[in-house]
Amino acid sequence: MPVAQSAQLFHNVIAGKRVESRSGNTFESRNPAHWDQVLGVFPRSGKEDVAAAVAAAQVAFPSWRSLPAPSRGEILLKAAMLLEQRKEELARTMTQEMGKVLIEARGDVQEAIDMGKYIAGGARRPTGETVPSELRNKWAMTTRVPIGTVGIITPWNFPMAIPSWKIFPALLAGNTVVFKPAEDTPLCALRLVEIFEEAGLPAGVLNIVFGLGEEAGEALIRHPGVGAIAFTGSSEVGAHIGEVCGASLKRYSVELGGKNPIIVMDDADLSLAVDGALWGAFGTSGQRCTASSRLIVHDKVYDRFLGELKEHVLGLRLGDGLDESVEVGPVINEKQLERIHSYTGIGREEGAKLVTGGNIAKTPATAGGFFYEPTVFAEVAPTMRIAKEEIFGPTVVVLRVAGFEEAVAAANESSYGLSASIYTSNVNYAFAAMEALNTGIVYVNAPTIGAEIQLPFGGVKSTGNGHRDAGTLAMEQFTEVKSIYVDFSGRLQRAQIDTDR
Ligand code: NAP
Ligand code: MG
Repeated sequence: MPVAQSAQLFHNVIAGKRVESRSGNTFESRNPAHWDQVLGVFPRSGKEDVAAAVAAAQVAFPSWRSLPAPSRGEILLKAAMLLEQRKEELARTMTQEMGKVLIEARGDVQEAIDMGKYIAGGARRPTGETVPSELRNKWAMTTRVPIGTVGIITPWNFPMAIPSWKIFPALLAGNTVVFKPAEDTPLCALRLVEIFEEAGLPAGVLNIVFGLGEEAGEALIRHPGVGAIAFTGSSEVGAHIGEVCGASLKRYSVELGGKNPIIVMDDADLSLAVDGALWGAFGTSGQRCTASSRLIVHDKVYDRFLGELKEHVLGLRLGDGLDESVEVGPVINEKQLERIHSYTGIGREEGAKLVTGGNIAKTPATAGGFFYEPTVFAEVAPTMRIAKEEIFGPTVVVLRVAGFEEAVAAANESSYGLSASIYTSNVNYAFAAMEALNTGIVYVNAPTIGAEIQLPFGGVKSTGNGHRDAGTLAMEQFTEVKSIYVDFSGRLQRAQIDTDR
């Protein structure tokens, strides 16, 4: 497609300067609801651009780390306040750049604001512990120190929230950052970086390189000057990052995919469960890592639940997310649209029953964009591919179970382990599920989405490698622990030997 004449050309931000890619190559950011609308043209960066950004981050590191944490926190708080002031404008940019409906885009920015305030407020909190020494006139304590320069690589589905989960704690800890955002949402990422600059972040502390995963992303994970990689995205890329970082003993944290189940018990408030399933499955057009993509329903209420669900799904309004009456926006791009549609074919071949949807949407409101009909498959067996693989679109599968044990077993039959939910009015089932569901996040009487930033976020099994974003654990992936002993006895004291035992 030709570049629109009016499209603005944007640049990488390295050492506080606007720079093109060395190659001069560019790529476009387009609106998935109106593909002819170009939001901007961005540098398609390569190895040299990443190297320049890492060098700038390394130069900025000594003075940034030596700034007292409360002073770093002041800058971060200012950035959060600027995000708050610009919330509406940023949300509108987000809806145009990646399609999620405006109320969800506002929520995405709000999550970034919450994270900024939360992390900035932690600037005066303890960074270690003091423990008794076994020897007299000796102290033993820990502190947390920054890693150095960290690489942050993020997906397009939460273009402000996810970068904020990582950038705020990385910076508070005293690291400097090279940020490679998703190629589908460069403008949101640039707006975020501009806000940090405006808040007074020194040049070189946060650098952004735009480009493709296989080029700029790959160069970043391989760069020896990067001390750690913090990544959110697909399990496939996450595993690759693990291999590359493992080979050079680089620290890395990966937050990956999900196939998140909602269990609906026979004693559940059914209309509450239907509301939760609709929001969980079709919010952000199903393109959430925590999307409720599997509905595991008790046989006794299965038909009623499915009937109500179908009726509501048929009523969902598709279109441009800037129109506030629209409930489901586009999917991110053409490739993803085709992938989602291919799963409808797979589901049919596997013998699942297509209840509603299953087509690329073709209405006046969806013309010119990438929209998929909200799709429900019923009579799905746990062994089917549509029950196991992350579709990352508005397709939900419904499984029938005979009771609680079978429901939990079906829920846990997944290679992923991000989020799970149960709808029940029985407190015993609720607590038993909280224990038995093998995921990083469990909800009771709420869908699998809706995390708040003050609790850790992440999953088990192939959803990650044991790290958590946000909450009380936010700083861990961006710091090293240093243990310190101070002996003020003035003589040699030998641990384990010269004790008062
Ligand atoms: P993706 O394809 O894995 O991309 C994520 C990021 O990695 C993008 O910036 C991408 O660049 C980059 N990348 C791709 N190949 C790379 C490589 N070889 N080296 C370094 N970086 C590389 O994921 P996505 O399609 O953007 O996002 C959807 C996925 O993210 C889903 O699986 C979803 O479940 C997951 N997700 C997980 C969480 C969580 O917290 N657990 C949250 C949200 C999303 P490009 O943009 O150029 O491809
Ligand atoms: Mg991508």
